[in-house]
Amino acid sequence: MALVFPHSVTTLAIIGSEDRFPVRRIYCVGRNYVEHIREMKEGDERDLPFFFQKPTDSIVSEGEVVPYPPATEDFQYEVELVAAIGKSARNIPVAEALDVVFGYAAGIDLTRRDRQRESFKKGLPWEIGKSFDHSAPCGPLHPVDSVGHRLEGSITLSVNDEERQRADLRQMIWNTPEIIANLSTQYSLEPGDLIMTGTPAGVGPIVPGDRLVATVEGLAPFSFSIGPKKA
Ligand code: MN
Repeated sequence: MALVFPHSVTTLAIIGSEDRFPVRRIYCVGRNYVEHIREMKEGDERDLPFFFQKPTDSIVSEGEVVPYPPATEDFQYEVELVAAIGKSARNIPVAEALDVVFGYAAGIDLTRRDRQRESFKKGLPWEIGKSFDHSAPCGPLHPVDSVGHRLEGSITLSVNDEERQRADLRQMIWNTPEIIANLSTQYSLEPGDLIMTGTPAGVGPIVPGDRLVATVEGLAPFSFSIGPKKA
């Protein structure tokens, strides 16, 4: 049997290995740091976590250029800890949730903020604001075997060497095991799934030519650039 339109599997590099991590789904958590909820002036700080997805092929890797997307005048960054799933999980308890984590990366939830705000006001889905081409830059994965779990430590983002976001992972409203446990009540998590765990305060616009660097304490920095709008 041949595929009529074969396409490539999206993969992430794994630090310390020649192997690659095949990406299955990309889940994202909305509103997971109090100061970010306050700066957005939307949502309730006590709400349960909620989730949206990005397309698997929206991954952008180290050193690549993200074309400035169409359909926005307010393109923004959100630095996030990314947890990569390595085992199946369904209704997993919080106490066991970290057992299914393969590794961690620094990622960016790129956002068409103007479109997201419109959707919010109209009560419409967030796809146009969140789930577009090149919207999920993600650094190489650091296996738990070598770096352990990332439950605390700094998370930062700089644009053109100027720091814009800085927080500690302990400030997450729902931590990684709680997110995995909750998400696994809604979906069967499978190896290859990524979870972007929400952004701290300090989000803002980016323009063509900007260079972004994301860091999570204990992981290698991750960088990429914004290119011109595609014709
Ligand atoms: Mn986000």
